[in-house]
Amino acid sequence: MTVATKKKVHNYSAGPCILPQEVFVQAAQAVLDFEGSGLSILEISHRSKPFEAVMAKAQALVKELLGAPDHYQVVFLGGGASTGFTTVPLNYMKPGGKSAYVNTGEWATRAIEESKLVGETLVVASSEDKNFSYIPKGFEIPADADYFQLTSNNTIFGSQWKQFPKSPVPVVCDMSSDIFSRPVQVSDFALIYGGAQKNMGPAGATVYLFDPERTGNTGRKISPMLDLKNHGAKESMYNTPPVFAVYVSMLTMQWMKKVGGVAEIEKRNSAKAKLLYDAIDRLPMFKGTTAVEDRSPMNATFVMSDAALEPAFDALWKEAGISGIRGHRSVGGYRASMYNALPIESVQALVDVMEHFAQKNG
Ligand SMILES: *Cc1c(COP(=O)(O)O)cnc(C)c1O
Repeated sequence: MTVATKKKVHNYSAGPCILPQEVFVQAAQAVLDFEGSGLSILEISHRSKPFEAVMAKAQALVKELLGAPDHYQVVFLGGGASTGFTTVPLNYMKPGGKSAYVNTGEWATRAIEESKLVGETLVVASSEDKNFSYIPKGFEIPADADYFQLTSNNTIFGSQWKQFPKSPVPVVCDMSSDIFSRPVQVSDFALIYGGAQKNMGPAGATVYLFDPERTGNTGRKISPMLDLKNHGAKESMYNTPPVFAVYVSMLTMQWMKKVGGVAEIEKRNSAKAKLLYDAIDRLPMFKGTTAVEDRSPMNATFVMSDAALEPAFDALWKEAGISGIRGHRSVGGYRASMYNALPIESVQALVDVMEHFAQKNG
């Protein structure tokens, strides 16, 4: 049996998103026969030696790609980044303590709501006043908070922290939509977490990279399933991990390493972002929706100055094989998600369509 190749689509999906073609081929092969074992990756025990090796490799690659300190731990759990919204306060907020958050979008809002279910939650800054179109600056993080959480990249609104604020308390970061897209100073964070499906792999696994010394010291009794230190001590095998999602994430991280690591990936992402944002700024019929200095290289949000032209524009990009650029309902317009595996040729295809359309209708 051969594996059918897909037809060429420029996939701008916001998540689950495009992964490298070679990863799809390797993953398909492992579904049929995992490393010559005669078994599918879908039917092997998570406690088998070959899968233990996959898990160890995936954990090591997270740390290697991000340059994490040796003593940091990595676990891959189910439940999505959304389960992280409750895992975080349970692991970092003392009973009777409090947390501090910055609200930069829908995911941050949800995280704040979940923290409130656990204890006192301070929102130290917010950009909700302008529909989350910028990153707040010049706020104070209270020194008596148990932790401070932020969302590094706002997937829906297309904004990104370029510099992380200095914090007097442990920092927790939801990096779901820009993890592995640029280098970060891991030691500045007690915890980095993210759903796999935006830069790391397929849906189904959530990665937690944490400093065990600054995690779980709350004295709070919590479920072992939500206890990061428990999962860390059990090498991410306390219960059945999302085997296939971890495997495909490992393949994707191997690809990242092969192409030159996160520094090279950042270069590629910057080139893609420049190409598209330059077109948005050059063509008067398109308008970016995010403050220029806070624009995300991962998710570029824009609208048309004349919304009546949208149906004609939509027809044109669909014809060019472009998929997934309609904006989220809370922003409208368009959102082009340019995750790591999206080739610059796909961005060029979109820019060509925009230029063509502007010439015809400008
Ligand atoms: C997509 C996303 C989430 C939600 O992830 P799930 O895995 O669907 O729970 C959380 N935070 C950010 C920043 C996201 O982009």
